[in-house]
Amino acid sequence: MKKLALHWKIIIGMVLGILFGFIIMSMDWGKEKIVVKTIDAYEKVIHKNVNGQVVSTVEYVPAKEIKITRAKSFVSRWIEPFGKIFINLLKLIAVPLILASLIKGISDLKDISKIRTMGFRTIGIYIGTTVIAIVIGLSIVNIIKPGEGMPKETIEKMKEAYQGNADAMISKAKVTQDAGPLQALVDIFPSNIFQSFAEPAMLQVIFFALFFGICLLLIPEKKAKPLVDFFDSLNEAIMKMVDLIMLFAPYAVFALMANVIIAFDDTTILVKLLGYAACVVFGLFLMICFYMLLIKIITKKSPFWFLKRFSPAQLLAFSTSSSAATLPVTMERVEEHLGVDKEVSGFVLPVGATLNMDGTSLYQGIAAVFIMQVIWPDGLTFTNQLVIVGTALLASIGSAAVPSAGMVMLVIVLEAIGFPEELLPIGLALIFAVDRPLDMCRTVVNVTGDATVSMIVAKSLGKLHDDPKPKEWDDNYENVK
Ligand code: ASP
Repeated sequence: MKKLALHWKIIIGMVLGILFGFIIMSMDWGKEKIVVKTIDAYEKVIHKNVNGQVVSTVEYVPAKEIKITRAKSFVSRWIEPFGKIFINLLKLIAVPLILASLIKGISDLKDISKIRTMGFRTIGIYIGTTVIAIVIGLSIVNIIKPGEGMPKETIEKMKEAYQGNADAMISKAKVTQDAGPLQALVDIFPSNIFQSFAEPAMLQVIFFALFFGICLLLIPEKKAKPLVDFFDSLNEAIMKMVDLIMLFAPYAVFALMANVIIAFDDTTILVKLLGYAACVVFGLFLMICFYMLLIKIITKKSPFWFLKRFSPAQLLAFSTSSSAATLPVTMERVEEHLGVDKEVSGFVLPVGATLNMDGTSLYQGIAAVFIMQVIWPDGLTFTNQLVIVGTALLASIGSAAVPSAGMVMLVIVLEAIGFPEELLPIGLALIFAVDRPLDMCRTVVNVTGDATVSMIVAKSLGKLHDDPKPKEWDDNYENVK
């Protein structure tokens, strides 16, 4: 019998997880409230100066009692941990994978000028697609105007429900704001690579791998060979780990989706934000169409072929809301299923996961204008929208590839246009209720954008293979079982 394709297994896992979430929420015992945590809202915020020294306080977001239903408690105690295990496993292999594939890739290129070309092309295309994403977002929100005419009581209700969460986001954003203008650049250069591995600071790991790979090219081939061989086999072994971890994906997405469903408590608020959410989803959909057009025109591949082969990574991006956690799968799919050479994917994808977030920037554009339409219509000037293009570009570069990062950086976009400080918590509270589902969708666009750009760059360098042969977890199993 023909084996069910992985993406179908994952889709079945997701659908069952969603159904399970709804069923468990509707059960009688699910409605009783119990107190589970009292201190989990503590949050440490450390302000550092340009040199990375801690200059000011540790702030605490006040603790509050959190009440959750028995059903939610069941899911978070007995189901969600399986999702967490899966995400931990993916994170576990991300750093060694970037290291091995980038070092191996660079040493295979055998030509430093090619690395330069690849670097410039990648960054150039990343910036281009991000600007297009923001312009699409701004056009949609200005035409549809989802924020106009929102009733006062809805605004009040959201403020009441989510002001605490909004405050926490604002204090997180402060850490980034307080850093000097060149801090982002300084942060790329590690002083202790083991610390970079441990955090993990992806850009620092990428920098180290690039530097190391280039130096391997600069020493005599005979001397470099043992290390090149070492990283080659490390890369193979880690790719095998991805195959094995993916066997667990359908079960993990069940757990992740069930957990997402039980996190929604007030669906009436969700309905009020439908117009805004629809604008974001429509914009993200247009972005996917744009990528497919690029795939068709530039790489001459069928968009359906692309989607079929890449969809497991998209489904995982959707379930985990994190392009960093999805990175190992993105790399495996792009190299083994889409035919992009390691030299290209090893550089383009980790850089993209960290810097290129088209979905996030599109969302930031729409969210900023939506918030202005609701509570600060005076701010809706053409100049402010131009500023949004610039700051959303920078904010998406600065956003970490983890859940909700885009919303934290939205604070910076809003502050750049002079959004009144006192309205900030209300602004964020307004969009908080739908952030998680939108985060899931924008993360899909973020990883799809990275994969598309890696194919374009590979094509332009003659590094896109026509008929890739995917490896299976058990290719060598017969010989060792
Ligand atoms: N969750 C997104 C990602 O990991 C970032 C964001 O938009 O919040 O790509």
